[in-house]
Amino acid sequence: MGKGFFHVPKAVNEPVKSYAPGSPERAAVLEQYDQYFNSTVDIPMYIGSEEVRTGNTQPLSPPHDHQHIVGKYHLADKSLVSKAIANNLEARGKWAALSWEQRAAVFLKAAELIAGPYRAKINAATMIAQSKNIHQAEIDSACELIDFLNFNIEFMSNIYQDQPKSESGIWNRVEYRPLEGFVYAVTPFNFTAIAGNLPASAAMMGNVVLWKPSDSQIYSAKVIVDIFKEAGLPDGVINVVYGDPQMITDTVLSSPDFAGIHFTGSTSVFKSIWKNIGNNIDIYKSYPRIVGETGGKDFIIAHPSSNPKQVATAISRGAFEFQGQKCSAASRVYLPESIASQVLDFVKQDVESFKIGAPNQMENFITAVIHEGSFDKLASYIDQAKEDADAEIFVGGTYDKSKGYFIHPTVIVTTDPKYKTMTTELFGPVVTVYVYKDDQWAETLNLVDTTSEYGLTGAVFSNDRYTIEEATTALQNSAGNFYINDKPTGAVVGQQPFGGARASGTNDKAGSAQNLLRWVSPRLIKETFVTPVDYRYPFLGES
Ligand code: NAD
Repeated sequence: MGKGFFHVPKAVNEPVKSYAPGSPERAAVLEQYDQYFNSTVDIPMYIGSEEVRTGNTQPLSPPHDHQHIVGKYHLADKSLVSKAIANNLEARGKWAALSWEQRAAVFLKAAELIAGPYRAKINAATMIAQSKNIHQAEIDSACELIDFLNFNIEFMSNIYQDQPKSESGIWNRVEYRPLEGFVYAVTPFNFTAIAGNLPASAAMMGNVVLWKPSDSQIYSAKVIVDIFKEAGLPDGVINVVYGDPQMITDTVLSSPDFAGIHFTGSTSVFKSIWKNIGNNIDIYKSYPRIVGETGGKDFIIAHPSSNPKQVATAISRGAFEFQGQKCSAASRVYLPESIASQVLDFVKQDVESFKIGAPNQMENFITAVIHEGSFDKLASYIDQAKEDADAEIFVGGTYDKSKGYFIHPTVIVTTDPKYKTMTTELFGPVVTVYVYKDDQWAETLNLVDTTSEYGLTGAVFSNDRYTIEEATTALQNSAGNFYINDKPTGAVVGQQPFGGARASGTNDKAGSAQNLLRWVSPRLIKETFVTPVDYRYPFLGES
């Protein structure tokens, strides 16, 4: 038990290193990349103190060099998943009872390890596993994960300090209990930081967690496990399994001790999990917390008063960085007729200047998309756009998977504001532009609001304050993260808490106190100092 009111170190955002030619960080990450790339790793599952190797394995290959093997990982069967849950539950008592400052210290240490000795490792692993260029790896797997850990610890201590008032003679206290059971963390391929944060945020609040990473992120997930272990996370607090996601999830959701899910991934998977939980509701000991951040169809709308070069840069960065595989990536753009050709020409110049290839060639702005399934899907939409009368490929439109899954950044211009690539999440370097008549601004705002089922991110560009206000109001429910004169990507922990509503998720804002509150079940304790001994209230007295 704590014996003091402790202040955690003030969280500050981790500075982004430049990796400019000649910098020490550039040399370190390239050396680490080569070392990883030219060796193989045998990645186990982690259950308690055990490293589990079932012998049922899958190979690991970088998306930009899919015939090259960098390792393998092992797959769980149903009984192993049950064993992992049982182990989590055994670890729960001690972890839940541990003083909060001890839990905090583990995750603060993990943040320091990433900032220092593990920085090159986690960045190089992310470059290999998810084909991120070094800048994208640095802002994700180093800076964002460090920020998630440091800021969440600060938010955790703020939550604990939030206490009710007490009238004289009594003392009201709230203790923020971890959930009764275990939390299931299911993470996507696209952010190493999200992969680390989803299990860590629930664990730091005193929960035990079963973590199932995406198959396409296991290589960098291993570095996260190594860091948590070195930081002193006790065995069984975060167990890790890989394998058939449906089987693992069905096994997890049939446990009476399932207490919550922390999910990030696609909308359809989240909906299927939610339905499954609903069907099982009678077996659970408590109502499970359901937290999910899911898909997006993120927009940019430019007003005629906006600066064409600024709009173009926002498209080039917002739609194409990390090959458009950010949930926040701009994928539908509304340009006014008066500036559309200027904006499009600037974008074309940018796209034609992009270098494309492996992430260890530092000049490459664009690398590969995550896997063959994604590549084939994107290629089919591009091919369809070439056929369709209401769409035109303005720039890009080529692809090649002979060595890696490379899709050339592509701009489609459509005359139909409901064209399929204006409404469907593609999750790749493809952006679709609809040109509207300048006098149709209000109608276009309505189109932006009603075109997609999602509500994740969006941006308005304007130099007219009245129209900024108009867009902010009209698009109130169209985006959980709304940007004015900025691209819709690049949310920073502690500054722009992230999440969307509608089909984009439960909007519990990753990297905020709101999110951490989902992983506790507060208990109110009222203590009365001088306890009444007579049931009669004064009003019962005879007059
Ligand atoms: P995905 O839905 O394919 O996979 C996410 C996770 O769910 C993985 O661990 C996967 O193995 C698991 N999964 C897949 N099928 C499952 C099933 N039937 N039952 C249970 N689990 C299952 O998503 P992805 O391709 O890894 O990531 C891209 C998606 O994630 C996009 O839709 C993107 O918008 C979304 N995303 C959203 C946010 C956000 O904050 N809103 C952030 C990142 C990614």
